[in-house]
Amino acid sequence: MNAPFKNLIDGEWTAAAHASRNINPSNTGDVVGEYAQGTVEDLNNAVAAAKAAFPAWSRTTPQERYEVLKKASDEILARKDELGRLLSREEGKTLAEGIGEAARAGQIFAFFAGECLRAGGEMVPSVRPGVGVEITREPVGIVGMITPWNFPIAIPAWKIAPALAWGNCVVIKPADLVPGSAWALVDIIQRAGLPKGVLNLVMGRGSVVGQALLEHKDVAAISFTGSVATGRKVAAACIASSPMKKVQLEMGGKNPLVVLDDADLKTAVEVAVNGAFFSTGQRCTASSRLIVQAGIHDRFVEACIERLKGVVVDDALKAGTHIGPVVDQSQLDQDLKYIQIAKDEGGRLAFGGELLKRETPGFYLQPALFTETTNAMRISREEVFGPVANIVRVKDYDEALAVANDTEFGLSSGICTTSLKYATHFKRNSEAGMVMVNLPTAGVDYHVPFGGRKGSSYGPREQGAYAKEFYSTVKTAYTLA
Ligand code: NAD
Repeated sequence: MNAPFKNLIDGEWTAAAHASRNINPSNTGDVVGEYAQGTVEDLNNAVAAAKAAFPAWSRTTPQERYEVLKKASDEILARKDELGRLLSREEGKTLAEGIGEAARAGQIFAFFAGECLRAGGEMVPSVRPGVGVEITREPVGIVGMITPWNFPIAIPAWKIAPALAWGNCVVIKPADLVPGSAWALVDIIQRAGLPKGVLNLVMGRGSVVGQALLEHKDVAAISFTGSVATGRKVAAACIASSPMKKVQLEMGGKNPLVVLDDADLKTAVEVAVNGAFFSTGQRCTASSRLIVQAGIHDRFVEACIERLKGVVVDDALKAGTHIGPVVDQSQLDQDLKYIQIAKDEGGRLAFGGELLKRETPGFYLQPALFTETTNAMRISREEVFGPVANIVRVKDYDEALAVANDTEFGLSSGICTTSLKYATHFKRNSEAGMVMVNLPTAGVDYHVPFGGRKGSSYGPREQGAYAKEFYSTVKTAYTLA
């Protein structure tokens, strides 16, 4: 099938024998587009093109790289409404969220355009007489990228922008479920003046294109975002390959939000509902585990239910929608499975959890809130990745902190409190990479590091100036004058 949306290999839009249909989850009768499904051969051609482009691109001046990234940023920002609409149509987050994410991609490119000009090194006196030591950063080489479906433009942007800024060549395989936003992003960057072969897009199956990327000997590094199960395979393949690949993994979460008795109730409810359910709960930083102190528990549950009654679940593109559909049938099946598991474990479904019918056929699920759950239950321990959250009641701050940290994951955590003492203690003692006080666990800035601990992340942080730890490699050079 000659899909209109082709792979970008060596600067050419290249047809593939097979295509996949990108379906709108708000209206399954609406086909967003037909996207090429790459093969191992396509992937090999993309890596060969990146290899050929690397010597020249890695020696470009910071000014040349700045200009490409800045131009890409300008076009993304100028077209953010249209890109946001495409994103919401293919992924199902609301239009406001889609436009916000597209704008973020533009801001990320502007930030990393600036990073091109800020690159520098160090001169260090040697311990030996007459010797000078220079510490510089160089590109890593060809960076392979594998991305998930839930942030279809922001995640490709926060991987591609620093990779190019630091002089690397890129082969990206976006999520097969929602390739449209990544395709549009790559098109913009390519037209911003990149030499051919520097950036290559190969869409397709993880088990085919992704696996071939992991196994290719010329790929020096892999940046992966996705589930823990796939992340483990990615890391194992990177270590098994010869030479070994540098690897960075951003994976799942079971992020806790602690609500203490002294919290401002209105703030806590907003923070919880936003963090747990917005973007249909399909955020790695979603606070799906609400840990609530006994004194505020009943008031908090009641206020959350009232707030959830006012939340509109509908077509992502419709004005007035607060929460769009679940991304596809298999994710919906997973959400429903966990709702059943929580019930079977003895949780009380305090609100929602019903399938909803709307004007168009789509994967509409009412947000589900469980009470009377413990931290030992599967609903507290496993990532659902949907609009499903549960409340664990605790007696005091110490128990709240212990429960918050009692998890395999460690991406983001939050606390709602008016106590400086508890807020300060929580920031220091929470075993998560990102900690929020009176703010949702999801929703981060683009110019500071992003990432987690324990089972959520592996390798250097993404985003902000810290991204250079992954996208560059340090050289120490000695000179006898
Ligand atoms: P996934 O692991 O199923 O897929 C991620 C990517 O890996 C896709 O592009 C997929 O095609 C590819 N893939 C699958 N099998 C592969 C293989 N054998 N070899 C190489 N590539 C392969 O994840 P998903 O369902 O797309 O995304 C949801 C997950 O992503 C959730 O667990 C979520 O928490 C996580 N996530 C994490 C972050 C973060 O920054 N921590 C951000 C967003 C999403």
